[in-house]
Amino acid sequence: MSIPPSVTTPVKSGSRDTSRSFWKLMYQVCLVSGLTHLLFAAVFYWLGAHTMAWINLGSVTLFTASYGCLKLHRNILAAVLIVSEVLIHAALAVWSIGWDSGFHYYLLVMVPVVVISSMRRRSSKYLLSGLVFVLYVALDFTMHQVRPLHELSAEVLSTLRAFNLAATFALLFYLSNLYMRLVSKAEKQLRILATTDPLTQLLNRRSFLELADYELTQRKRHLAPLAFVLADIDHFKSINDQHGHAVGDAVLKAVSQVLSQAVREQDSVARWGGEEFLILMPNATLEAASMVAERLREKVSAVEVTVGAQTIKVSMTFGVSSHRLEEPVDGPVNRADSALYQGKARGRNQVVAEAV
Ligand code: GH3
Ligand code: MG
Ligand code: MG
Repeated sequence: MSIPPSVTTPVKSGSRDTSRSFWKLMYQVCLVSGLTHLLFAAVFYWLGAHTMAWINLGSVTLFTASYGCLKLHRNILAAVLIVSEVLIHAALAVWSIGWDSGFHYYLLVMVPVVVISSMRRRSSKYLLSGLVFVLYVALDFTMHQVRPLHELSAEVLSTLRAFNLAATFALLFYLSNLYMRLVSKAEKQLRILATTDPLTQLLNRRSFLELADYELTQRKRHLAPLAFVLADIDHFKSINDQHGHAVGDAVLKAVSQVLSQAVREQDSVARWGGEEFLILMPNATLEAASMVAERLREKVSAVEVTVGAQTIKVSMTFGVSSHRLEEPVDGPVNRADSALYQGKARGRNQVVAEAV
């Protein structure tokens, strides 16, 4: 199937992916941060900075509680605990061992987390980001005036700062990457919704026309033939009337599957209307397209849709036309429609090519 840049094949996707990804990230945050803080508690105890060791044990407790909340689906409470931990920990760490330890860097990571979060109210995001900013500036101002509680050696401080800086960069990179992935996934889902028919998963009318326009410009350049086949299910109304709309839908899906599987690799099938399908066949002459249509007709007439004890047989009538240079897409579509109309008048279940 030839595909222009903006048309894709359908993919099934969940609608709450962004929110799910965010909470999955929160699980990871709890696990990684809990373990890192446990390690920090041991290191600070060993360095003699006991206040910092206790602060880190407090963080481990908060991350464990957040993890539990996530498990119990108390997501908001978990988020409040995580945010509080980051803010309080950064403030206490900077107050305890000084600005040069670099623990304030983690406050910067809060901004993308707040923006990506599934928080619905935009004002809450502004408020939280503002709070982080105020805390950051207040710590910067205060800690350049007062001495920290524990005076660690310059060597230890620069090692800590290097670690915190590296961790901050890694977190920012990870978050930006996650954001990009979420955006492109959402974009892909929207494109699929905008270009496919929800019942049959075939191209919809709009994306077919976009594709036809693309093929028409290709044709102008290469002068290759381009055929159109319009196919309509015979007596479809009576299938609906006898078996109900849901069975009618099942027949539409079965026919769509047969058509999309039986066309050539370079052909594209669209749901043109209720039970009408339009097929675009690049590089196919009227004769070649008529032969493909005949094969499709045979395949469709072999379809059997089973409903309970009943078996429904279907047939289709096909109208085939060929694009004439410089004409707009309506030209071949209208001629395929006229040929189809003739096929219906002549008794259905047949292929009729336009007269040339
Ligand atoms: P013909 O052989 O002349 O094409 O007759 P027909 O009965 O197939 O054509 P007609 O245009 O009279 O009926 C088409 C029917 O298709 C009418 C409409 O209710 C039904 N239809 C359109 N869209 C859908 C759909 O999405 N699902 C179902 N189940 N039926 C649909
Ligand atoms: Mg019909
Ligand atoms: Mg019809």
